[in-house]
Amino acid sequence: MKKTKYLILGAGPAGLCLAASLRDRGEEDFLIVEKEAEPGGLCRSRDVDGFGFDIGGGHFLDTRKAEVDRFLFRFLPEEEWESFERDSRISILGKEIGSPIEANIWQLDIEDQISYIKAIAEAGCVKGTPKPELFTDWIYWKLGGRIAEDYMLPYNRKMFGDDLDVLGTYWLEKLPEVSFEDTLRSCLTGKAVAKQPGHAHFLYPKDYGYGEVWKRLGNSLGDRLILSENIEALDVDNRVVNGKYQGELIINTVPWPAIKEIEGADGEIVSAIRSLKHTAIVTEYHPDKLETAAQWVYYPDPGLAYHRILVRHNFCRGRGYWTETRAERYEGVAAGPAFMNEYAYPLNTIDKPAQIEKILKFMEKKGIYGLGRWGEWQHYNSDVVVERAMGMAQNLAGAIT
Ligand SMILES: Cc1cc2nc3c(=O)[nH]c(=O)nc-3n(C[C@H](O)[C@H](O)[C@H](O)COP(=O)(O)OP(=O)(O)OC[C@H]3O[C@@H](n4cnc5c(N)ncnc54)[C@H](O)[C@@H]3O)c2cc1C
Repeated sequence: MKKTKYLILGAGPAGLCLAASLRDRGEEDFLIVEKEAEPGGLCRSRDVDGFGFDIGGGHFLDTRKAEVDRFLFRFLPEEEWESFERDSRISILGKEIGSPIEANIWQLDIEDQISYIKAIAEAGCVKGTPKPELFTDWIYWKLGGRIAEDYMLPYNRKMFGDDLDVLGTYWLEKLPEVSFEDTLRSCLTGKAVAKQPGHAHFLYPKDYGYGEVWKRLGNSLGDRLILSENIEALDVDNRVVNGKYQGELIINTVPWPAIKEIEGADGEIVSAIRSLKHTAIVTEYHPDKLETAAQWVYYPDPGLAYHRILVRHNFCRGRGYWTETRAERYEGVAAGPAFMNEYAYPLNTIDKPAQIEKILKFMEKKGIYGLGRWGEWQHYNSDVVVERAMGMAQNLAGAIT
């Protein structure tokens, strides 16, 4: 049995950053166990057609905290990143218009603009009716019938599955807030009037894919990073993994349902773990040049399998583009290399907040903590994961002696 003070499960950004942050605090007694042969999780890149290809989908760094930048620049210095202004678009009604849609319908034909504006004027949130509880109703209520039917509902079905009403509405508050007045003003002035959504400005490595920073971080951990070890069994009472690694504390960043055997958890916890839902995506490379200046484009058209295209030649020196497709919709006729990501999006189902809270409370009593996109089952971006891992290292270091 290999014993350690901090046993970290998973070497994506959460596990890697936690390990490095513990080391920064003088804690050397830790191990990370990872199933893949390389670190980085969803943020990994591979060399495809002479340049980095982000196998987990398009990844851009947009940090809100200076300490997160400082931390990442230690591994990939600031001068090795290029800075961009976001240019993302939506392919709709035969045009490519800006995002968010409510601020950019001025780019549609006049008759379509009139029809969209009339539908927004009829939306429940403009008329002051109560917020609905089901996802589909909420989208109609917030954005009106045209945006709901032409964009939000088909796009979300492509991303998350056909039955959108299994999703809660608690997380929709994060959508960019564009008022009816802003929409009118943008149509009358012919320019977007709204705060940009996330990634308004972002960084991307000049000479590599996004995975480079995580690869370097992983390398810095030396033999404390154990690769190619799939975690299949967790004994919660003894904090033992796969019968061979034991931690005084365990920090889990691996999707809870991916751990097949959980010994010592009662039926209620096991069924809470099994209730957590996710979607898988496939990324697929194409070498062609696209006629767009956008870095990425959203495709709500249900007739196209993919939902988003990342235009690599518009954000790095590599050529070509790649598509992102939910695995069930993927037709498997890759023109170029394709990569499957089983755990891509944690689903914000109606009962998820209660279930994950139950799991985390139970595990904490056993000295096992959930961290990151999967440990906490949240749509965290990598910068948020870094921030949370740094916070956890601060709380843990010195908590056991
Ligand atoms: C399509 C897409 C686009 C995104 N775009 C952005 C973006 O532009 N900017 C941004 O900052 N973030 C983006 N993200 C989010 C980003 O990918 C996550 O924030 C980040 O990867 C979370 O890190 P993590 O360590 O929590 O999880 P992960 O990166 O998923 O890491 C989990 C690790 O656990 C390992 N693991 C899983 N099962 C086992 C097992 N049984 N045994 C051992 N190890 C296991 C995995 O191999 C992996 O290494 C995007 C995500 C997706 C899906």
